[in-house]
Amino acid sequence: MRPDILNPIFAEITTLKGIGPRLAKPLERLKIARIKDLLYHFPSGWIYRKQVSLLSESDVGQNIIIRLVITDHRNSSRPRGPLRIFGSDSEGNYVTLTFFGRNGGWARKQLPVGEERVVSGKLERYGDELQIVHPDHMEKPGSKAQPALAEPVYPLSEGITSKRIGQLVADGLTRVPELGEWIEPSLLKTRGWSPWAQALAAVHSHDNSAHRDRLAYDELFSSQLAMQLVRQALDRRKGSSVAGDGRLVDKLKLPFELTDAQKRTISEIDGDLRQSRPMLRLLQGDVGSGKTVVALITLLKAVEAGMQGAMLAPTEILARQHYESLRQMLSGLPVNIAILTGRDKGKPRESTLMGLADGSIDILVGTHAIFQEAVQYKHLAVAIIDEQHRFGVSQRLMLSRKGAGVPHLLAMTATPIPRSLALANYGDMDTSQLDELPPGRTPVETLVMSEERLVQLVEGVGRHLASGGQAFWVCPLVEESASSDLAAAEQRAHQLSLRFGDKVALVHGRMKGPEKDAVMDKFAGGEAQLLVATTVIEVGVDVPNASLMIVEAADRFGLAQLHQLRGRVGRGAEKSRCVLVRSAQIGETAKARLALMRETNDGFRIAEEDLKLRGAGELLGVRQSGESPFNIASDEQIREMIGLAADDAKLLLERDGGLTGPRGAAARNALYLFERDAGVATLRSG
Ligand code: ADP
Ligand code: MG
Repeated sequence: MRPDILNPIFAEITTLKGIGPRLAKPLERLKIARIKDLLYHFPSGWIYRKQVSLLSESDVGQNIIIRLVITDHRNSSRPRGPLRIFGSDSEGNYVTLTFFGRNGGWARKQLPVGEERVVSGKLERYGDELQIVHPDHMEKPGSKAQPALAEPVYPLSEGITSKRIGQLVADGLTRVPELGEWIEPSLLKTRGWSPWAQALAAVHSHDNSAHRDRLAYDELFSSQLAMQLVRQALDRRKGSSVAGDGRLVDKLKLPFELTDAQKRTISEIDGDLRQSRPMLRLLQGDVGSGKTVVALITLLKAVEAGMQGAMLAPTEILARQHYESLRQMLSGLPVNIAILTGRDKGKPRESTLMGLADGSIDILVGTHAIFQEAVQYKHLAVAIIDEQHRFGVSQRLMLSRKGAGVPHLLAMTATPIPRSLALANYGDMDTSQLDELPPGRTPVETLVMSEERLVQLVEGVGRHLASGGQAFWVCPLVEESASSDLAAAEQRAHQLSLRFGDKVALVHGRMKGPEKDAVMDKFAGGEAQLLVATTVIEVGVDVPNASLMIVEAADRFGLAQLHQLRGRVGRGAEKSRCVLVRSAQIGETAKARLALMRETNDGFRIAEEDLKLRGAGELLGVRQSGESPFNIASDEQIREMIGLAADDAKLLLERDGGLTGPRGAAARNALYLFERDAGVATLRSG
């Protein structure tokens, strides 16, 4: 349960004064539901003002704050002309306050002749006059709402103003409780950071990166702490020591030698399996680096020890592909392998479930279905998770509840993750890297082409198909909406089929499993030669004869994603090409990103550089989904502070593993504040 002290800021935003149905919508669009969300809605910029007592002290073009006496109202002689209100400073110099349209009536009431007002706005020259058009503030001297020297500008949504958000924030800040400090005192000191509540208020009153860093650090720290707590809980639960005797692995007949990287990884995994402390290991290996065989050998070690292994794939297509390739590699060995996906129903499903429960099935491959409640294993010792982007801490925790002991876990990914983000997402895991591709691969040649040359491109594709080749045609990401993606893909498929007839097939994310499989089979079998697709082909999918890939609007993709896509070609003996089609007009950063794709095939380099380029601040289209688990910390802050946060969390747990001391108790608040409750839950159960 969340500590009571946090309740005031977890209260619904509607508990603040003056939030009616009219503000509810824009706030919802800004994802502000609770007071806490509002307080973490940080300004995106600032208006700076100069306080002057005389007009002569300021320059035209400046935002000023000045006290004026209102001397006259003057309607325009023209029908729809502006209302002009004159104000005089203490030396009798005048400025015209100008109001257009319906603002006039209201301004007249706000600025009665003879009264004093503190006015702020941008000073301009109009003919011989000084003027301020629609001042931002017109306050009675001494009233509460005086214009600030620095006024925050908030990210907005239609129907709410920055000023209104500022008022709500001010109100929200009065609900902020005093919380104990969870940051290591020495760190606080070296960084010059303020206590949490102060930093939170300061972020809304002036521009200072230290305050923002502190608040971002809080988030990084809580996530690292939660992760390490889950790990700590997992470590306390015993798994089974898996010591294979080699009787199956030695008999595997592979058509190739393992690479050194594969051998090293397998021995790292073997070392983990022999411990009763459950393995929690991330295997990173670029597309084509040969992760599947590492997975197979890991599974076989469980079977050698008389236990079971399971492998989870993110999609039905991939599950079937894995099942087929594992089955082939296992041919001749006394190993019983089965597949289970959401599509398996009735009798076959029943018999698979029986086989798992009585231990006659040694290895299970499948989709999420394989870890559902109803699936009982006799003795699951190893679980492998392939390309699971959304494999978060809570899923790791869930898996640990499966079966008698906690299974050893290996997560595999081809998504190159920069080091800082790996720590952010998988800081609790050990890592292995397949940093070497099997020999004999010819790197994919990458070209960048403007969309203006689409016609020539289609001709080129025509020649490729005519010579018996196959190709992927990936359609652009349109905003983040799946339905518009689909429309674009359908349209493109239609156009291409006018040219290439039934050589063209279309696959997209909205298709049902069997329908999708049918298309993929058609393509894999060579019946279809040009596969038009949305990004569903991103992972897996092995069609060695497809040696050409076109990616439309490539500048809208994340680089890691492009790299993944490109990995779909270059699987056969033939030289492969990837054509990145860019929009006609693109910025410098976008150009640099595409150039990087042309220059290197090294996924890790791409990921690191991409992160840096994005740090440059240009708007780069779709943020790569699922990669940052943070709402507050920016990519740059993650990069700079995540290591620190990991060490800090570790140190705290070494000193106070139960989080019972004063700093530990404060850290619990931080976990709740950032909704890393899974971390706290381990403390209660453990
Ligand atoms: P990924 O890491 O992308 O999952 P795969 O496991 O699918 O890669 O392997 C890609 C291809 O490389 C497969 O056809 C596989 O048989 C082959 N392969 C794997 N290891 C080696 C090796 N050591 N030498 C040669 N080919 C290999
Ligand atoms: Mg793979």
